[in-house]
Order: sequence, then C-alpha cells, then structure tokens
Amino acid sequence: MANATLETLRASLLEKQRELQRRVESLEKDLSQARSPDFAEQVTERENDDVLREIAREAREEIQRITHAIMRIDEDTYGSCERCGAEISAQRLAAIPNADYCIGCAQAMESQ
Ligand SMILES: [Zn+2]
Repeated sequence: MANATLETLRASLLEKQRELQRRVESLEKDLSQARSPDFAEQVTERENDDVLREIAREAREEIQRITHAIMRIDEDTYGSCERCGAEISAQRLAAIPNADYCIGCAQAMESQ
C-alpha cells in the first residue's frame, strides 16, 4: 500500500481515537456527578448510568482496536491478515479500516 494512503489513514485513525477519548471522558464526568436525593430519581439515574457505561465500554473497545491498527501501520504489517498472512483486500479495508483478518479468516472464525 502506498505510504501516502497509510499516512492519511493513520491521521484519520488518530483523529477518531481522540474523538472517542473525549467522549469517554465526558461520559465518565457524567457518571461521577452527584446523585439526586430523591429515590425515584435515583432509579432513573441508575438506568441512565447503565446506558452511559455501556456506551463508554464500547468506545474504549473501539479505542483499543484503533490503537492496534495504528500499531500495525507503524510496524508495517497493516493490511495483512493476522491469521494467515494474506493481504486483506482494499475493499474490505475501506469498509473496516481496522480489520485484522482477511475476509476468509473472518468468516471462518465467525462460523466456529
Ligand atoms: Zn486470513
């Protein structure tokens, strides 16, 4: 893959990562806020907290996947399958920039 393409991709992954980081930080801030003294309010707040925690968890996972993709770019292994070593198709990488496996391995692993 051309270096210019990888540089652009790396920059956009970093940008996405920063955005997710900001989101996680603001979610954590919301979650650490003082609770209402009213019991009924507290129930609603706890339900909201569960939703916020789930969103934060997903964002953290996405951050990890992006970190991994950036690492692969830096190690020059980006775009090759971590399972069989084959080149991941450009089409697949366009759809999933942080794909670690080729379509064949991804499907094989899913059906296991
Ligand atoms: Zn593979």
